[in-house]
Amino acid sequence: MKLVFASFLFSISILFSGCSSESNLPTDKTISTVKKQPNILFVMTDDHSRHAISAYGSKLVNTPNIDYIAKSGVLFNNCAVTNSICGPSRAVALTGKYSHINGFKDNRSKFDGSQQTFPKLLQKEGYHTMMVGKWHLHSKPQGFDYWNILVGQGQYYKPFMIENGDTSEIEGYVTDIVTDISLEQLAKRDQSKPFCLMYQQKAPHRNWMPNVKHLDLFANDTLPIPDNFHDDYDYRSDAASEQDLEVKNMYMSFDMKLDPKSFLENDSAEFKDRTGSEYKYPNETGTGGSKTWDPVFNWKYSYDRLSAEQKKEWDEHYKPISDEFYQSSYSEKELAEWKYQRYIKDYLRCIVSVDENLGRMINYLKKTGEWENTLVIYTSDQGFFLGEHGWYDKRFMYEESLITPFIMKVPNVDSAIVNNDLVMNLDFAPTILDYAGIPIPPDMQGQSIKPRLEGETFEREGQYYHYYEYPHGWHMVKKHYGIRTDSFKLIHYYSEAEEWEMFDLNNDPQEMNNIYNSPDYKNKQAELNQLLIELRTKYKEVD
Ligand code: CA
Repeated sequence: MKLVFASFLFSISILFSGCSSESNLPTDKTISTVKKQPNILFVMTDDHSRHAISAYGSKLVNTPNIDYIAKSGVLFNNCAVTNSICGPSRAVALTGKYSHINGFKDNRSKFDGSQQTFPKLLQKEGYHTMMVGKWHLHSKPQGFDYWNILVGQGQYYKPFMIENGDTSEIEGYVTDIVTDISLEQLAKRDQSKPFCLMYQQKAPHRNWMPNVKHLDLFANDTLPIPDNFHDDYDYRSDAASEQDLEVKNMYMSFDMKLDPKSFLENDSAEFKDRTGSEYKYPNETGTGGSKTWDPVFNWKYSYDRLSAEQKKEWDEHYKPISDEFYQSSYSEKELAEWKYQRYIKDYLRCIVSVDENLGRMINYLKKTGEWENTLVIYTSDQGFFLGEHGWYDKRFMYEESLITPFIMKVPNVDSAIVNNDLVMNLDFAPTILDYAGIPIPPDMQGQSIKPRLEGETFEREGQYYHYYEYPHGWHMVKKHYGIRTDSFKLIHYYSEAEEWEMFDLNNDPQEMNNIYNSPDYKNKQAELNQLLIELRTKYKEVD
């Protein structure tokens, strides 16, 4: 019933949404159904797993404000990213095109800002466009009336930000700051235009530094550990066992926030050994620094950004943990689980801040009467491992990393719909343009989800994926591509040894047992191979 009602409302708004700008809208105020083009609030967080959102059934944390969007809209259970890593995913969201088409394949890439993006198209059609927070595309934002971005990955405390080209250091905690600036700009904007705000948080990206006011959350809890935390990677490709994603190898200083007194040499040597190369930490202007990436240096750099008062609160929380650690001894297994608890608690504290700040944003839109006519998208640049397979981070085509949270409230409809279609982050740009009544450029590779929410079917046989960042970069996940259907997944690793994996997602949702070349699945395997070839052709992949 709700869908039918939604469809009726949409059909009314469609009558007027084909207009190219607000100035063309009918002005007869007696037509009560006339709406201006919807505002767009695009909320993107960084590395936010669905398993840390209560609307998705999280056993770890409550996120009432994210859940509120789900209660007012549509929760998507199967939204895949095309390439599970920060910069590339953002480039896909902006362009509606795969990495090999938009040119941003891994985090070393520089985004060609001259290309077509959905904010540019919105701006051209009369929108007031704003971009605040994490950008991470290494080139100047284009297509925005206002932009204020974090330098590089951004810092949790006293971050460097670039406002329309000018860099400064902002006192405070990053999640609050990004929200403060966003609310200020919403208030200052040209109220005669619909707005598009890209509100993009750094949190909960590594190294998960909470706001000091949230340090005591979960402090006395023992949080549940995933069933497959102690995965031995049997029955999987070598790529699964040869990665560098394991929680047990997290840094004691940078990740665990322990006093680094005995880790200086160990951490540095360990890091260089594992990667065979050195990393550059961006300097304050974001132009690339000369400092070799070192966990202790980076931990000190992050910690020193706290004010004296913040450091006092911080130390009151972490010093007893640090002292206790140095006085204890742990088996390898105990240490891995201890690290998991340390990791997950800081991660979740960062999420609580994200959720509280989202609440501020929702309240503002309600108070100013904009909520009803705003299209709200909540998503992350990709999923994240929260201890599944013993891992953190992303990159792999496995479910936790591939499937990203995607919750969307569409204007003037209040309904809690759960959707299981094979949607993708490739679809964000065409969907936003469709709701704004702007024609979708034919070269965008995604498809609008709007017709689906008006009662039509959504056609996509499989989700095509391609990850490129190897052997340079972090975490040593080998290059691979593959497809996911509603029941199966096929993955091809190709950067060193050629390896294939296939999973039966219904019978093996944790992806523990590779069934590639199993006689029981011979026909299904042939079918998936054929679909993979078709999708590679469709999306213009060239070997
Ligand atoms: Ca990310």
